[in-house]
Amino acid sequence: MKDADFQPVLDDIVTTLRPLLGTAGTVASYIPALACIDARQLGIALRTCNGAEAFAGDAETPFSIQSVSKLFTLTLAMQRMGDALWERIGREPSGNPFNSLVQLENEQGKPRNPFINAGAIAVADRLVSQALQAGGSAKADILALMGSLCGEPIAFDDEVARSEAATGFRNIALANFMKSFGKIDNDVAVVLDTYFHQCALRMSCRQLARAAAFLCRDGAHPIDGQAEVTGERQTRRINALMLTCGTYDAAGDVAFSIGLPCKSGVGGGIVAVVPDRLTLCVWSPALDATGNSLLGMKALELFVARTGLSVF
Ligand code: GLU
Repeated sequence: MKDADFQPVLDDIVTTLRPLLGTAGTVASYIPALACIDARQLGIALRTCNGAEAFAGDAETPFSIQSVSKLFTLTLAMQRMGDALWERIGREPSGNPFNSLVQLENEQGKPRNPFINAGAIAVADRLVSQALQAGGSAKADILALMGSLCGEPIAFDDEVARSEAATGFRNIALANFMKSFGKIDNDVAVVLDTYFHQCALRMSCRQLARAAAFLCRDGAHPIDGQAEVTGERQTRRINALMLTCGTYDAAGDVAFSIGLPCKSGVGGGIVAVVPDRLTLCVWSPALDATGNSLLGMKALELFVARTGLSVF
């Protein structure tokens, strides 16, 4: 397919799915600031390896990226620490809910992977350590990375961050539990503040498709193609983790029915990668029972059916 052929595919997907908006799924309500989001929204955007963009529906509406952020903080930690990161965090699917405490006890506070909440909190702890050594702040490092990848400033939604800090009892428990095993080095409050803010990044489908574009280009920077965001080997590893662990307990089903590395979030966003071809972001706030965007997943299924793209 030529780059110019993608726009009609995205238009057609939005036209096909729009009648289903508001008919199924539920918006995440355990974070109060997200409970009032209008579920009848659907956006889709892609960016090809050549820098061509296509988008349709609500692709320019900013939303709370939530766990999609785990992809970018993992990238930052891999950039800075290389393989030492894996001393603290595993690489296996968890087979448990994203916010579960149960495996942590048997595994001495070492999270199964960087995409469950415990793993992302452990990554945030590593970023806090690195930032303190450099005399900076992990939150500023995250904003700098996102701004650089998008080519425009990206901000936190402080209301969402505050809402999560006020109600995130499980995440607070996970951080303290890991700390009790000596697996969190920094002040738990600072680590959680970083984690809650990364989840509260506000970005649109277009911005996310662009920011993640290094994943389809062997790590080359989306805008400045010369600079490297991550090396080729690290980029493959991030894609591998997205495929095996990126969509909660549905990763097996997603590999089966979509066949692309994906990372989803409870805000309803999903980033998907077709290595050497393009990155795609879909967003629709109503979630299915696994916590993934219901129409987002349908949009990805239609996309692979209509383009024939897959990693398999
Ligand atoms: N901030 C959310 C939490 O920690 C992220 C959940 C998600 O998107 O998977 O519960």
